[in-house]
Amino acid sequence: MADRIAVVGAGQMGNGIAHTFALKGFAVTMIDVSADALARARATIAANLDRQVKKGTVSAGDRDAAVARITEATDLSSAAEAALVIEAASEDPALKFRLFAELDRVAAPGAILASNTSSISITEIAAHTRRPDCVIGMHFMNPVPVMELVEVIRGLATSDGTTNTVVELARRVGKTPVEVRDYPGFVSNRVLLPMINEAVYCVMEGVATPEAVDSVMKLGMNHPLGPLALADLIGLDTCVAILDVLHAGLGDPKYRACPLLRKYVAAGWLGRKSKRGFYTYG
Ligand code: NAD
Repeated sequence: MADRIAVVGAGQMGNGIAHTFALKGFAVTMIDVSADALARARATIAANLDRQVKKGTVSAGDRDAAVARITEATDLSSAAEAALVIEAASEDPALKFRLFAELDRVAAPGAILASNTSSISITEIAAHTRRPDCVIGMHFMNPVPVMELVEVIRGLATSDGTTNTVVELARRVGKTPVEVRDYPGFVSNRVLLPMINEAVYCVMEGVATPEAVDSVMKLGMNHPLGPLALADLIGLDTCVAILDVLHAGLGDPKYRACPLLRKYVAAGWLGRKSKRGFYTYG
């Protein structure tokens, strides 16, 4: 059981988390309400592992073993055997509160319930369970198999034991954990999202095209990806959801989402995952 984890939500983050843990020897149960999402996640993991084999960073044997360690389920009760549950469902507070109340009922006593939320309060998520000491933020970066950071967020009631276990697990899967306190957006998205939002304002106000904004930040600030290409990668719906949490939680109008960003989301232009955002894909 110690080496069995469950990942709830098999979208772009969930499949990356499952991939990363399976490659390091953990048995992984991927859970999603959507059977289609599970099928897509399995295909994405296989394709990404193949790419690693081609690059020579993973052996064919390790790829096959990783794939074999991942099972899929559509019901939350399949998390019962896991020592660690990582929730990576959509960035919707009500959804996460409901999921954690339910996970608290089905997970083994003492199992750690972690959320990959980008911005929602870990303290508030934990308050929907009877084990707030075992609830923590484990914020992976996108794409999970390649990004080094895991932001570890302690809620008000998170125990030292839970924190130490999660820090150690992050290291075991080859990541570098950084501990931060539970405030809206933590550190990563409190710093990143205002920059992305400002880049969208530049486009809305006609200051520059998306290509020009991204070129300025890549060539001038040495960012590997411009803020609008990064927004497309994160998902424009997720960007709006994070800005809404920053705005509500910190009460400062500087965090209000740019109307153009909301308009794109209303149009279904969500970035890479819908093949259109500030750029078009595929
Ligand atoms: P996504 O839209 O790609 O995937 C979300 C998945 O959750 C979907 O497959 C959906 O079917 C599933 N889901 C919805 N309701 C569910 C339920 N009740 N039970 C089980 N599954 C359910 O989203 P994503 O980009 O993978 O983001 C997931 C989480 O990770 C969010 O909290 C997001 O803020 C966070 N995050 C995202 C990024 C990023 O770059 N996209 C980075 C770090 C953290």
